[in-house]
Amino acid sequence: MPRARRAGEPRRPARPARASRAALARLLDDVRACRRCEAELPLGPRPVLRATPTSRVLVVGQAPGTRVHETGVPWNDPSGDRLREWLGLDRDTFYDERRIAIIPMGLCYPGRYERGGDLPPRPECAELWFDALRAQLPRVELTLLIGSYAQRHYLGDDVRKTLTETVAAWRDYLPDFVPTPHPSWRTTRWLKEHPFFGDEVLPELRRRVTDLIGDDPAPGARPV
Ligand code: SF4
Repeated sequence: MPRARRAGEPRRPARPARASRAALARLLDDVRACRRCEAELPLGPRPVLRATPTSRVLVVGQAPGTRVHETGVPWNDPSGDRLREWLGLDRDTFYDERRIAIIPMGLCYPGRYERGGDLPPRPECAELWFDALRAQLPRVELTLLIGSYAQRHYLGDDVRKTLTETVAAWRDYLPDFVPTPHPSWRTTRWLKEHPFFGDEVLPELRRRVTDLIGDDPAPGARPV
């Protein structure tokens, strides 16, 4: 099992030197068998993630909702529909894990607050798994940071005071990262109030994603 991140270590992962299909497959088996915070999960552990060593784009969201937990398919909900629209991708392309890896900040459904709204992602996932997973994704050149949890984790001290300020500073994080709000219905008003996102961020995001995933995956690559 990989060690936890130590305090003060850089958030941005170094480009991995070596990775292999077998190593990633073993790691994904370990992740999918994880029970670390079972006692805290109202629906039990069900890590939802996907990746192959040939993935070019990494999508980092918050944590599965109930529908994603039930189906085991990430972004299999109206937020996923909007995200695919933002990226300019159909479902088949979005779910082609030879091109796109999906690893949320919390891998299992975390439950809900009594007053409504999902609980934050479990912090154990990042501590246990993220460095090891990222080390097995050598071809990722763009990481989409969806929401403040992903932005705080991956941008560290470079994150701005608010999500809006971080997204507005999107050019500062290129070429490795693009920060976005969450594509849920709650964001509809935010999008209207911040037209730069649709006018400037999304066209550049679509261009980069198309450039990266337009390449054929490595010969013989198959989903893990
Ligand atoms: S939430 Fe993360 S740490 Fe907890 S059981 Fe699921 S995969 Fe393991």
